[in-house]
Amino acid sequence: YRSYGVAAQQEISSDRGHAVLAPFTAARQVTDSNPLVIERSEGVYVYDSNGKKYLDSLAGLWCTSLGGHEPRLIAAATNQMNRLPFYHSFWNRITKPALELSKELLELFTPADMSKVFFTNDGSEANDTQVKLVWYYNNALGRPNKKKIIARQKAYHGSTIVAASLTGLSNLHQSFDLPVPFVLHTDCPHYWRFRNAGESEEDFATRLANNLEQLILKEGADNIAAFIAEPVMGAGGVIPPPATYFDKVQAVLKKHDILFIADEVICAFGRLGAMFGCEKYNIKPDLVTIAKALSSGYMPIGAVLMGPHIAEVVSSQSNEMGSFGHGFTYSGHPVPCAVALETLKIYKERNIVDHVKSLTPYFQEGMREAIAESPVIGEVRGTGLVMGVEFTRNKSPTDLFPASWATGTYFGNQCAEQGLLVRVSGDTIMMSPPLISTKEEIQKAGV
Ligand code: PLP
Repeated sequence: YRSYGVAAQQEISSDRGHAVLAPFTAARQVTDSNPLVIERSEGVYVYDSNGKKYLDSLAGLWCTSLGGHEPRLIAAATNQMNRLPFYHSFWNRITKPALELSKELLELFTPADMSKVFFTNDGSEANDTQVKLVWYYNNALGRPNKKKIIARQKAYHGSTIVAASLTGLSNLHQSFDLPVPFVLHTDCPHYWRFRNAGESEEDFATRLANNLEQLILKEGADNIAAFIAEPVMGAGGVIPPPATYFDKVQAVLKKHDILFIADEVICAFGRLGAMFGCEKYNIKPDLVTIAKALSSGYMPIGAVLMGPHIAEVVSSQSNEMGSFGHGFTYSGHPVPCAVALETLKIYKERNIVDHVKSLTPYFQEGMREAIAESPVIGEVRGTGLVMGVEFTRNKSPTDLFPASWATGTYFGNQCAEQGLLVRVSGDTIMMSPPLISTKEEIQKAGV
């Protein structure tokens, strides 16, 4: 490209696809077809390079909760850029936006007491940080064997080596020698798909909690540090928990002294009609992962919130074990922190949780009414402003379309053609529209 210039680059593009090795994109897609180039955004809409308008019903990648062009976030970034575009937070240096944001987050998270925040660039780094934190914690407590982490099949926790291992999706493991051996997976809590004949939701939850306990007993509770879960599974297909599931799981974890890491990367900040998924499902986590809507996706930022019992051990041991040797150049970067602060302010001012609650019936029931009768739709599921629509034959959880038909991709492409961007995973299409959507915009997605 450097020696041949732009014209040659265009030639390469048409012959061999573009020059980006795109995440989660099949190699053939890069070489065989032109990517959809998104050029600008406005409210809940994005526009491609040909000027075609799309309703962005995935809010970017489950993140642009305030839509695509919020002037206050742009001003927050610009002002911070003008004042202090960068300083780090290593060795007891810190910036004001990082300090203020940490304080704000601790106040905002009410389901359990949280006392310290560790900043990262994204959700994957935050989940890697969680694992290092619980290891450090158990080493400090003199429990060097208590290291294994239990995650769930179909979970999504990111794509770095540890986060991809926690993830329970085979495409993140195949060909990468993952998961790493200290990660174990327990059942996916998808009632419709995995229930036994005649089993109630509560009985299904009991069975899964029992299976979790069996796994803990088999491995030895002294070897298990933490359990990680999304309150509502996102990328695995939008799977809300069955009734009583988290109560039963938390009882098992408590009994065996195993920490609960709540991965709120998709659920936090109003998406489920509560400020946090933990609030909605009465989860009292020891550690929380956040990212995405923290800055409405405008700047890369993630964070770990930790309870006082963890924070105290980590802080008090650092003299004996050395400093907490973990962090990123951009941990607590002042520009994303300033944007996140403004984002949280807007969520409060616009009462985003109540707004989501008021839209939920139109989105959830409205969508079910509009499409649930279709013989190719097996299940419509979700809560608040997140939804999965799964295609199966005859409404059966087991009578699947042949994989070679790529039914989900077919419907996802149909949606895009008609100006609606959705996420496709297997035969499920998923939506998580911007939280600022109006009733009309929400209804449009279902038509
Ligand atoms: N955790 C959950 C629940 C997610 O949905 C994601 C991303 O979709 C991640 C973690 C990883 O976040 P990131 O892509 O910012 O690394």
